[in-house]
Amino acid sequence: MTMNIRIPENVQYLIDTLESHGFEAYAVGGCVRDGLMGAVPKDWDICTPARPQQTARLFAAHPMHNAGIQHGTVSVILDHQPYEITTYRVDGGYSDHRRPDAVSFVGSLREDLSRRDFTVNAMAYHPRRGLVDPFGGEADLRAKIIRCVGDADGRFREDALRVMRALRFAATLGFSIEPGTSEAIFRNQDLLRSIAAERIAAELSRLLTGDGVQAVLLDYAPVLGVVIPEINAMTGFEQNNRYHHLDVWRHTAAAVAAAAGRGPDDTVLRLAVLLHDIAKPSCYTETDGVGRFHGHQKAGAVMAGDILRRLRYDNRTVRAVTRLVLYHDAPIPSGGKGVKRWLNRLGEDLFRLLLEVKKADVQAHAPWCRAELLAELGRASDTLEEVMAQRQCFQLKDLAVNGRDLIALGVPEGAAIGGVLGQLMELVLDERLENERESLLEAARRVYARDGEGF
Ligand code: ATP
Ligand code: MG
Repeated sequence: MTMNIRIPENVQYLIDTLESHGFEAYAVGGCVRDGLMGAVPKDWDICTPARPQQTARLFAAHPMHNAGIQHGTVSVILDHQPYEITTYRVDGGYSDHRRPDAVSFVGSLREDLSRRDFTVNAMAYHPRRGLVDPFGGEADLRAKIIRCVGDADGRFREDALRVMRALRFAATLGFSIEPGTSEAIFRNQDLLRSIAAERIAAELSRLLTGDGVQAVLLDYAPVLGVVIPEINAMTGFEQNNRYHHLDVWRHTAAAVAAAAGRGPDDTVLRLAVLLHDIAKPSCYTETDGVGRFHGHQKAGAVMAGDILRRLRYDNRTVRAVTRLVLYHDAPIPSGGKGVKRWLNRLGEDLFRLLLEVKKADVQAHAPWCRAELLAELGRASDTLEEVMAQRQCFQLKDLAVNGRDLIALGVPEGAAIGGVLGQLMELVLDERLENERESLLEAARRVYARDGEGF
C-alpha cells in the first residue's frame, strides 16, 4: 500500500492558506482512503477548526457554494472543481434514525473523526504531519474490512443510511464487513424504512456497480429485502429446469456480477439485471417436476416499474429498465434484418444495453448452455457494429426521404404522411427496398395510390 498520498496543488493551496491564518487543516475521509489504496480520489474534502464564515472570508476571491454552510461546509471552486471545507463538528442527537437534529462545532480533529461512519473513512492526512488515524482505519484498509467507528448498533441507530453505506463500500471496494458490524447491520436493518427513498436509491445504484457486488447480494439479501421486499421471494427459489443450476436469487447475483460496465449506462444495466427475474417466483408453474416461468417478463416489467418508482428513480431510468426487463428473454436474430428491427424498436443505446443484459443473464445460466447462447449474442453484437459502421437505415430519421418530399409528391399533410413513411420504413427494414431517394419516392407513390384513402 502506498503510504504517501499525493496531494494535488489546489488542495495544498487550501491547506496552506488556512494554516497561514492560524487554522490547522487536513484532507479527510474518502480521499484519504482512496489515496492510501493508490487510487485517484474523485474529490477532496478538507476539515479545519475554522468556522464557515472565517473560511468563506479567507477564500472570498474564489467562487464558492454556501448551500452547506449550516452544516459547517463551504465549497470553494478552484479550476471549476469544488473542494469542500468543513468545520470540525459532531452531530447532535438523532431522534429519528436519520439526519441529526443539530450539528455542533468542536475543537479537535479527533472528535470530528469519531462522528464518521467507518474506520476507513475516519482518517485525516496532512502533507507534513502525515496520517491521523485514531480508529485503526489503515489496518482495516489493509485487511479490506468495513468496521463502524465505535459501537456499531449505536451508529446504525443514529443514522440507518449507514446500513446501506456499509453494503455500498463493501461492494465498491470489494471489502468484507467485520463480524460485529455485520451482526449490527442485520439487527438494525428495519430502520432503513425511515430513510428517504432517494438516499437509499443513490447507495443502491453505487452498490450494484461495485466489483464486489455478488458477495454483498448473497450475504445481505435480507437487508436488501427491506429496501425491495420482492427480493425475499427470490432467495432460495429453485428453478427446477435444466437451463438453471442456481436458485433465482443466486442466478440474479451471478448475472449482476457478470454485467461488466460496458453499456452506455451502467446504472440502468445493473438495475435491469437485478430486476430481470423479479417476477419468476410469482409466475412459477411445474409440469412433471419441470419448472416454467411463463409470463415473467411482462409481470417483471410491471413489478420493476413499481419498485423503481417507489425508490424515486427518475422517469428515464424507470422506462429504460422496465423495457429491458420486458425484453430480456426475447429472441434476437443475429442477422441484419433482425438487428435493425430491434434498433428501430429500442434505439441504439437501449438495444446495446439489452444485449448486455442478455449476455449477463446467459453467463449465469447452467454451464452447458452458455457457450452457444453467448456465441449467438456475439453474432448479434457484430451485426450491430456493422449496421452502425455502414450507417444503415433503421429509423425514420435515417430514411432518404422525409415528410416534405411526400408533400411535394402530392400526399396531403396529416396522417397520410406518417402512414406512408411508416410503410417505407417497413420495406427498408425488411430489406425489400434500398434506402435510396428515387426508389423510395417511387414506392411512396405506389403506397399512397394503394392505401392513401385508408390513412
Ligand atoms: P465517495 O465520495 O467515494 O462516495 P466518501 O467516503 O467521500 O466516498 P461521502 O458520502 O462523500 O463518501 O462522505 C464523505 C465522508 O463523510 C465519508 O468518508 C465519511 O467520513 C463521512 N460520512 C458521510 N456520510 C456519513 C454518514 N452517513 N455517517 C457518518 N459519516 C459519514
Ligand atoms: Mg466523497
